[in-house]
Amino acid sequence: MKLPTKMKALIKKEAKPGIWLEEVSVPKPPYGWALIKIKKTAICGTDLHIYKWDEWSQRNIKTPMVVGHEFMGEIVEINGGGNGFKVGDKVTAEGHVVCGQCQNCRCERQHLCPNTKGIGVSMQGIFAEYAIVPVYNLWKCDPSISDDLYSIFDPFGNAVHTALSFPVVAKNVLVTGAGPIGIMAAAVAKFAGAKNVVLTNTSDWRLELSKKVCPGVLTINTKTHNIEDLMKKHGIDNGFDVGLEMSGAQSGLNLLVKNMMMGGSVALLGLFGEGATIDWDKVIFGALNIKGIYGREMFSTWQQMDSLLRAGMNLDPIITDRLHYTEFQKGFELMESKKCGKVILSWD
Ligand SMILES: [Zn+2]
Ligand SMILES: [Zn+2]
Repeated sequence: MKLPTKMKALIKKEAKPGIWLEEVSVPKPPYGWALIKIKKTAICGTDLHIYKWDEWSQRNIKTPMVVGHEFMGEIVEINGGGNGFKVGDKVTAEGHVVCGQCQNCRCERQHLCPNTKGIGVSMQGIFAEYAIVPVYNLWKCDPSISDDLYSIFDPFGNAVHTALSFPVVAKNVLVTGAGPIGIMAAAVAKFAGAKNVVLTNTSDWRLELSKKVCPGVLTINTKTHNIEDLMKKHGIDNGFDVGLEMSGAQSGLNLLVKNMMMGGSVALLGLFGEGATIDWDKVIFGALNIKGIYGREMFSTWQQMDSLLRAGMNLDPIITDRLHYTEFQKGFELMESKKCGKVILSWD
């Protein structure tokens, strides 16, 4: 197949709000990398930060850059050994590119590589007709799982990594924050055998969505309802065994720390920005075990994702909007409105 030399891509062209649809050169894969024909991509909260050009993006993003990191597609070229992958394979990929040389990388802890680069953040992204990815990062798509779901494996992986950081079977689990990753984390904890999973948010729209993704999860709008009442009703008398902080809001963290059981375990994924605080007395006297979560484990989290979906976990309702890439503007507006789950752009 003859490959084109030019392609359409969504680019952060200038250091100001917005994203631009432009024609650029098709990238050439360096040795050890593959060229992918992109089929589906998903818009992440990170992309929205870059779109809005907030303070974080101004510090971290160099323009011009193709944005995006959540995708699935088909391999069209491999430079060097395929390591089990071949042209024509349907793939998605881990979005963190690690160095392979540092102490953590050499000890099977690649997700903790201090030299990590992010696709579509600190290197060219995948919101384009073609993109290059290291062969090491590729993950083969199983035919039993849909293309749409594979395009959200990156955030689903954040959810799985967080939700399965501590044993949840027969435990009471509190998830603060019902963004798409919070909803998916609640669904994973429930599917994996938690006794009660309580999911909080301060707006009803996403709690309604969560009822479709994880019907067995207890939801509460903490602006209008009291969590203590809900806990009492469901026999959660001594607090939660496991807490997953997915909101990145000070109020979410406070609520979580306050309602943990003594000796409980807390996983933190939500990003707080500067100046967030924690009640250390509650951590110390409550003997809490706290873990920060970054990315996905390579590649045990990926195996868990395939496994959960093959075992029948229904994640489809988290995808609420499907658009063509030329409608990207509408996609970003939806993301900004927060009246959506995952928004998928197709590149066919
Ligand atoms: Zn993402
Ligand atoms: Zn490393």
